[in-house]
Amino acid sequence: MRYDFANILFAGPCNARCPFCIGRQIDPRLSVNNLHEFPPRNLDRFIEPIQVHAIKQVVFTGTTTDPQLYRHEARLLDHLRQRLSPGTQISLHTNGRLALKKIDVFNQYDRVCVSFPTFHAATYEKMMGVHGVPDLAQIVDRARIPVKVSCVVNEHNRAELSDFLEHCQAIGLKRLVLRRLYGDQRSWPLPAQLQPLSHYRGNPVYAYHGLEVTLWNFDRCECHSLNLFSDGTISTSYLLTSAYRNE
Ligand code: SF4
Repeated sequence: MRYDFANILFAGPCNARCPFCIGRQIDPRLSVNNLHEFPPRNLDRFIEPIQVHAIKQVVFTGTTTDPQLYRHEARLLDHLRQRLSPGTQISLHTNGRLALKKIDVFNQYDRVCVSFPTFHAATYEKMMGVHGVPDLAQIVDRARIPVKVSCVVNEHNRAELSDFLEHCQAIGLKRLVLRRLYGDQRSWPLPAQLQPLSHYRGNPVYAYHGLEVTLWNFDRCECHSLNLFSDGTISTSYLLTSAYRNE
């Protein structure tokens, strides 16, 4: 088996309450609160296959929480840098709500994907379940590493897509992924200014005035991951039932 990446999955209370949270779809026994545990359970057993299979990307992500809420985030990064081979990249998948407060740790990753669905406060609250839109312009400005935005598109923000692209491009973002939730077969009209560019893992990639836009469809996803759940379970299936998530 060739693995594209290895996910370290954190669990615990989140600083957002997304109605589509993946934590609601998986067996709760897999998502025990590990925000205070160092190291995460079974980390040594998880590092072995990363080395055996020469997996080149390790991702800090979550089933029910944001990885930047993990109390030992910087310590675990240091630990993995010492244990993994030098070419291994470590990336963060975050909702961005703590990015500016923890910008020093944020910049210790090799790259970051921020889940960010809208610049509008009312839409943000509908999609993320909490007040307060993170300042994406500041995050992009203060990042010293590549930042990609992952935007779920649904009935709440689909009408904003053109404005969203324009705003993302204006703040200097270089990569954007537009994605539907797993199983959502609804289609939405693409902004007219998108120019077809290429394909990535079966998904179309477009150009928008210097911004690279990927339309990510999990039904077409050709990725294989190795996953460390917060209870110590190691699995090649992300959801163990069905999957949706950041690329
Ligand atoms: S940010 Fe992620 S973990 Fe938190 S509620 Fe939203 S989907 Fe769930």
